[in-house]
Amino acid sequence: MNYLVQKFGGTSVGSAQRIKDLVQLTVNPEAKIVVLSAMSGTTNALVGICEQLYKRNMDAAKHLIDALHATYSNVIAELFSKPEFLTKGEQLISNHFNHLQSFTLDMFTVNEEKAILAQGELLSTALFHYYLEECGIPSVLLPALNFMRLDAREEPDMEYISKHLRQELEPHKNNILFITQGYICRNAYGEIDNLKRGGSDYTASIIGAAIQSKEIQIWTDIDGMHNNDPRVVSQTHPIQELSFDEAAELAYFGAKILHPTCILPAQKANIPVRLKNTMDPKAAGTLIANIQTSEGVKAVAAKDGITAITIRSDRMLLAHGFLRAIFEIFERHKTSIDMITTSEVAVSLTIDNASQLKGILDEIKEIAHVEVDENQTIICVVGQLPKNKSGIGFKVLESMKDIPVRMVSYGGSANNISVLVSSEFKTAALKALNKGLFNYN
Ligand code: ADP
Ligand code: ASP
Ligand code: MG
Repeated sequence: MNYLVQKFGGTSVGSAQRIKDLVQLTVNPEAKIVVLSAMSGTTNALVGICEQLYKRNMDAAKHLIDALHATYSNVIAELFSKPEFLTKGEQLISNHFNHLQSFTLDMFTVNEEKAILAQGELLSTALFHYYLEECGIPSVLLPALNFMRLDAREEPDMEYISKHLRQELEPHKNNILFITQGYICRNAYGEIDNLKRGGSDYTASIIGAAIQSKEIQIWTDIDGMHNNDPRVVSQTHPIQELSFDEAAELAYFGAKILHPTCILPAQKANIPVRLKNTMDPKAAGTLIANIQTSEGVKAVAAKDGITAITIRSDRMLLAHGFLRAIFEIFERHKTSIDMITTSEVAVSLTIDNASQLKGILDEIKEIAHVEVDENQTIICVVGQLPKNKSGIGFKVLESMKDIPVRMVSYGGSANNISVLVSSEFKTAALKALNKGLFNYN
């Protein structure tokens, strides 16, 4: 069977009414796997509960669990109309919230935290499944924890996922509507884990690749990928088409509409990804596919929380093997590098995960001088930027002429110009580029 994968994000399942509205978008003769996020606010609330549990503030944790329980009781009351289903819904949420309360009694470790964070997606999918049942619409709930798995490198184990997902689908040959949880998975040891915040997009892409689906649709609260971050600048427009490479750069460099790594599985399996608006299903949205898109800049995005490291060595930079020695330090500390620029005597690079910074710096200091700047932002300009075309780099820097630029990376790919600025200039940079590149005020 050739399935469609449809993923609905937090706002798309964010209230009883929104869950009801999903029926119009999912119930039709096309076979599909529907991936749901937690209702909006839930994962944040679960994170808050975990924070209290780590601090051993049991009363505060209980209080937060009760408050979330009350929110879900209201959802149940609005979602179901038949007494039998009201009871079923109440039992469901009681089970989940009693489970949450049990974590206030004992030790709290990272494994318990992951089990708690999984509750949001388990709840939203079960609620939608029950609602369809109340409406008399057949559907099958596929437990993501039975097939979604990471390997020892914390990458999706595609072989395992493909095999086990097909096994889950196999007994239901007569069904066409399947529902599963985004975000949650098991790690290489079989423990409950997750694909990091925003990871439901990634789930959808992994599932699409695992069963070679015909399309992966990401339904959210906006009509596709916009040319700039609509939370920062007031005038933006949706982009109709993006190549996989362009979309991957935008997702990785901060366009929140897509999880950073969600394009890669779809791209590898060559499955088109379509971004759609749940609130305006008729809007065209954005098609991301293996296509040659038009020349020029399509969008800008910003990624915060960047650390810049400048490594200076008067003697050694150009000596062969020096850069390798530097890169090996980052590799040993499992830290990936985003941007890099070099001069005769120094190399500047950026990382977004500073958790291993101290160990990295200690090692670098043995062979060179090092300087660190925290709170940096990568501003990423994405499009088809052919190498033989003049003027694009100039336009980007001209637009940003009043903003101090810390690093520029141009020419690494024909899709991207990256500029590093101190985070205090992020808003000004995005506004300046909106004006200079897209003629908005
Ligand atoms: P979901 O909960 O459905 O996963 P997200 O909040 O993760 O939704 O992503 C959608 C949001 O991404 C939009 O509401 C928008 O504010 C934000 N966003 C940031 N940059 C962009 C962009 N370039 N294009 C569209 N949306 C963007
Ligand atoms: N519920 C998870 C989160 O809020 C995953 C997702 O929504 O994609 O991060
Ligand atoms: Mg998201």
